[in-house]
Amino acid sequence: MKIHNFSAGPCVLPKTVLQQAADAVVEFDNLGLSLLEISHRSKNFVAVMDKAVALVKELLEVPEGYSVLFLQGGASLQFTMLAQNFLKASGGKAAYTETGTWASNAIKEAKRFGEVFVVGSSKDKNFSYIPKDYAIPADVDYFHCTSNNTIFGTQMKAFPTSPVPVICDMSSDIFSKKINVADFGMIYAGAQKNMGPAGTTLVIVKDELLGKSGRNIPAMLDYQIHIAKESMYNTPPVYPVYVSMLNLQWLKENGGVSWIADINQQKANLIYNEIDRNPLFYGTVNKEDRSFMNACFLLHDEAAHKDRFDGLWKAAGISGINGHRSVGGYRASMYNALELESVQALVTAMQELERTA
Ligand SMILES: *Cc1c(COP(=O)(O)O)cnc(C)c1O
Repeated sequence: MKIHNFSAGPCVLPKTVLQQAADAVVEFDNLGLSLLEISHRSKNFVAVMDKAVALVKELLEVPEGYSVLFLQGGASLQFTMLAQNFLKASGGKAAYTETGTWASNAIKEAKRFGEVFVVGSSKDKNFSYIPKDYAIPADVDYFHCTSNNTIFGTQMKAFPTSPVPVICDMSSDIFSKKINVADFGMIYAGAQKNMGPAGTTLVIVKDELLGKSGRNIPAMLDYQIHIAKESMYNTPPVYPVYVSMLNLQWLKENGGVSWIADINQQKANLIYNEIDRNPLFYGTVNKEDRSFMNACFLLHDEAAHKDRFDGLWKAAGISGINGHRSVGGYRASMYNALELESVQALVTAMQELERTA
């Protein structure tokens, strides 16, 4: 039976990518060796890293003056790393929006190194909307936001105009739609939501903003060192970089970001139309802020319907739709490699529950 993987992360990957990834473990590039046992300095792996960087630049149309890095430590390490690179050592200040668990963690880390102004927050309503009417002070070192709130299912549909560089955590919606990289000072994303497997973090950073903090930054946390060493200051996470490269190649071969954006829109329409139509379910967030990646929804009457609904979707081969404990209910994560037919299978299970209720 086909399994429909709605996991919030690590995420579903295309079957063809998994097959290529599996093959490289046994033998890579006709070398008689596994990708896992060759030097990261070998020309075969350097070609992988170069290709991964080139694909990021091509798919997102990254302009001149930006560097693309594949680092380790997840998006969570970026919370502290970006603060150390961008907050002035003396009198450092930054503005943040607080839109969910990950944004809150980013704020917590930045506070270790400077003053943080929370300019917009949706904490008052359990992060069920995206704050919009806020002003970003002109005297802060940067503004930080989270484009898609994976746990709560909200997504920024537009970015504010900012007098200071905008730094965005795009972990769960990068490569899902077109973005204008030039609007950002830095973009980062843990690979395992929409780019590849866990173990590497994509960073796209505007070079001219770096080296200005006046801070003594540890080498492993210094973007300029990673840029100078082309993501090979130390041994890079070769396998996650390779599988991410394969997945980006899959995206490119199928039509790139505009192709997937269209499909992602169709998937989101399908699930949200059913959530709104079906009298047994309701969505948990402000409609205009609904995430196209993570759709959160609840049953009106869990006591009456939960057991049967859970039985229905499990029987349909659906996996990974239990909601995060801070929201409850269900969360359907619809990352790039999740097919429209998987969302249709979920909608069919929701309709079947209504029909037999
Ligand atoms: C998952 C997630 C993170 C944390 O990523 P790690 O790679 O596990 O550190 C941060 N931000 C967002 C938006 C996420 O979805």
